[in-house]
Amino acid sequence: MKEEGFRQAFWDEPLIFELSRKGRVGYTLPKPMSDVEVSVPEGIRRRSEPELPELSEPEVVRHYTRLSQMNYGVDSGIYPLGSCTMKYNPKINEEIASHPGVAFVHPYQDERTVQGALKVMWELEQWLKEITGMDRFTLQPAAGANGEFTGVSIIRAYHEDRGETQRDEILVPDSAHGTNPASAAMAGFRVVEIPSNENGTVDIEALKAAVGERTAGLMLTNPNTLGIFEEDILEIAEVVHEAGGLLYYDGANLNALLGRVRPGDMGFDIVHLNLHKTFSTPHGGGGPGSGPVGVKDFLKDYLPVPLVSYSEERGYYLDYDVPKSIGKVKELYGNFAVLVKALTYLKMLGKDGLRMTSDVAVLNANYLTRKLKGTRGYELPYKELRKHETVFSAEPMKRETGVTAMDVAKRLLDFGMHAPTVYFPLIVHEALMIEPTESVSREDLDAYVEALKRISEEAYGNPDTVKSAPRNTAVGRVDDVLAAKKPVLSWRMYVEMKEKGEVDY
Ligand SMILES: *Cc1c(COP(=O)(O)O)cnc(C)c1O
Repeated sequence: MKEEGFRQAFWDEPLIFELSRKGRVGYTLPKPMSDVEVSVPEGIRRRSEPELPELSEPEVVRHYTRLSQMNYGVDSGIYPLGSCTMKYNPKINEEIASHPGVAFVHPYQDERTVQGALKVMWELEQWLKEITGMDRFTLQPAAGANGEFTGVSIIRAYHEDRGETQRDEILVPDSAHGTNPASAAMAGFRVVEIPSNENGTVDIEALKAAVGERTAGLMLTNPNTLGIFEEDILEIAEVVHEAGGLLYYDGANLNALLGRVRPGDMGFDIVHLNLHKTFSTPHGGGGPGSGPVGVKDFLKDYLPVPLVSYSEERGYYLDYDVPKSIGKVKELYGNFAVLVKALTYLKMLGKDGLRMTSDVAVLNANYLTRKLKGTRGYELPYKELRKHETVFSAEPMKRETGVTAMDVAKRLLDFGMHAPTVYFPLIVHEALMIEPTESVSREDLDAYVEALKRISEEAYGNPDTVKSAPRNTAVGRVDDVLAAKKPVLSWRMYVEMKEKGEVDY
């Protein structure tokens, strides 16, 4: 049901084709020069006019502006999707990445003509090495999950190389991101789940009981997905190493630690980073990402080819001399534009700026935790002190009012704010996982807490207000099961499904 005075529903908006009026134009083409003859081969000539909508320029501008306003993005306001690090993406990144020298460089160009592009990759690698304490990086993987697959494939190759083929188990804590067990399984490993203790960190005794001669490695995020730092990391590393396994660092949460602690110093052998999270590239909707993988010296011969190297006589070059390489994990050299944006971000901030980034991200998460704590219906499981993100549980609210974490998330949209991540990590029931990042103001945080408090009042006063949300957005509550099982991905699909009676809106 629409609330009085609010924007119409998405499906009430006219399509650009419906706005079309014959003969209406938004352009004037120059008159063709009479002496230029264009000859298009007969076989590929159009037989009929293209069916394009006919509109004036303001109609086109308004149509697309209206569509963009129905959406919500990092540029619209707070976007505290936990684990995703939806930080502001500085516009200078886009400016540099769309420079013709970057945008039009071709991957098959001769090395001597792309020295600048290779230098960008080489320099980025030096930054990542210093930030993580690793010795060599591949920039090839296209996302975190792709980096994980690369990393566990390296673990596999390493053990095989040493004749320890019985090492077929990867240990993963129960707080892990779903991609960790998925990547391990894809690389052919058996996944062994390690439970968390009452602090929300790895249960060391359970870990000790699980390691053995079948252990290939442990995948760990630190701080973990609860936003809690694994304080026993040095002991964890020792236990795994002593059993003959390797330590894999899921670097998606590195935004908490920049300039403070390095995974390389914690005992990790392999890391992946999410450049699109920590180092600012738009990544909503699955857009191009980048998941570089760094390794300690003893694993560098297993990295994907080519690496980027430098020598006096050759300058920067694509280095295929990687004797035990696991091969390629993505075509060519990775998502180059994302690499450029990450390097721009790093250079703009510098070392001090990076450190401050993490300081503010951690401060923001703890400020929000402290302000929200004690609000009726929300519970703070595990320790209070968090790193860059915090996880509340709406379990009491659900039990007492029937309002779920999903309802809370939907109601937040009515307040013009993006929802947090919900129902993850799996070990927290009715989880609300909030990661404000460093790029929100104190006022943003206060407003977010206020909205969550108001939703709590609504839940205990008039739960239907929350359960029927959102009502003030372009699209109301969607049936998420139906949306997954019967996706309507285009107008044409909608029309066809409507005719068959498969959709009722
Ligand atoms: C995002 C994330 C991943 C996966 O990264 P993608 O780039 O989305 O593939 C892995 N682990 C954690 C903790 C994450 O937050």
